[in-house]
Amino acid sequence: MTPPSERRPLPPVVDDPAPGNGRGRKPAAPPEAAQPPVAPRPGWLPGVVVRAYGKFFEVELRDEPRVLLATVKGSLKRERRRTDLVAVGDRVWVSDLGAGEAQIELIEPRQRALSRLARHTSDIEQVILANPDQALFLFSVREPEPHRRMLDRFLVLAEAAGLPAIVGVNKMDLDVAAPEGHGRGLAETIFGDYLPIYDVRFMSVATGAGLERLREDLAGKVTAIAGPSGVGKSSLLNALHPEVHRPVGAISEATGKGRHTTTATQLYRVGPETFVADTPGIRALALHGVPPETLDRYFPEFRAYLGQCFYPDCTHLHEPGCAVLDALDAGAIPPARYESYAAMRRGEEDRG
Ligand code: GDP
Ligand code: ZN
Repeated sequence: MTPPSERRPLPPVVDDPAPGNGRGRKPAAPPEAAQPPVAPRPGWLPGVVVRAYGKFFEVELRDEPRVLLATVKGSLKRERRRTDLVAVGDRVWVSDLGAGEAQIELIEPRQRALSRLARHTSDIEQVILANPDQALFLFSVREPEPHRRMLDRFLVLAEAAGLPAIVGVNKMDLDVAAPEGHGRGLAETIFGDYLPIYDVRFMSVATGAGLERLREDLAGKVTAIAGPSGVGKSSLLNALHPEVHRPVGAISEATGKGRHTTTATQLYRVGPETFVADTPGIRALALHGVPPETLDRYFPEFRAYLGQCFYPDCTHLHEPGCAVLDALDAGAIPPARYESYAAMRRGEEDRG
């Protein structure tokens, strides 16, 4: 999801140290040139940007449970012309101006970013979330029915961004025996394809089952959460986020109505160094940042067969001597995953 102009050569598939999972892979190269190091001054406070409203940013302080409403020091505005100057997830240093207000004095170099191209531009990056460590794609076993194509699309985006992914399956209290499941439940039947490749976490926010395990997965990390509506994202955020340190009133007075509140990212601290981000913007990310000929390497279960097809530029759609199609026929690649690949490769999924 780095803009194409800044896209770097992808790591060789065969040398991937962690086939089958983004975990352990090197993070994507920093999306910006290194800035000259500036040391924080005494009195500046470290924090993380948890919400953005145009020129205003909510900064959650690292060392005390306070959120300050900040603007950016004018002289910083010369930096980062090709990307958002400050984005949710950025680590910053602020000076406290009193009355809940602050000035951002220093923006730390961004390690990586989930981003898209800003509308009507070919080289300006719009950051959905800065410095994510991993993604949690949440679906429900029923109500609504899992949308596997959407999950597969999310997983490709995460693989392309070098972001480890967790597949969350909520509403396990609604799981039933699968009609063709040979005694297995619906959830295991539907999400079984992902078990060898990704961390799959079954949970019920309603009963609390599986939430302790999920907390362990999230601890110490910044996790981007995305999924279709109705699967329980808000319920999960509420369950994870019992203490609320939100500034009350300040935002609406300062900026009028919150801008883009339905698509904007919001970061919640759920533990000392633990943040979860509600990232509705991920749903709008198109696959156009992923060139069709690289799609195969973002399906981890294909990787063992890549480079073994008769044609070096095999699309794995119809060619004779295709190792991926052979693996599909042999039952080594799940048919539904292959169908997702084929739909994306043919451009049937929204690429644009
Ligand atoms: P969001 O659209 O993804 O944010 O989903 P919500 O958190 O608004 O939840 C949608 C509906 O699912 C609400 O009625 C929740 O009460 C319900 N819900 C959330 N988690 C669970 C669960 O684990 N089990 C059941 N049965 N319902 C749930
Ligand atoms: Zn092939």
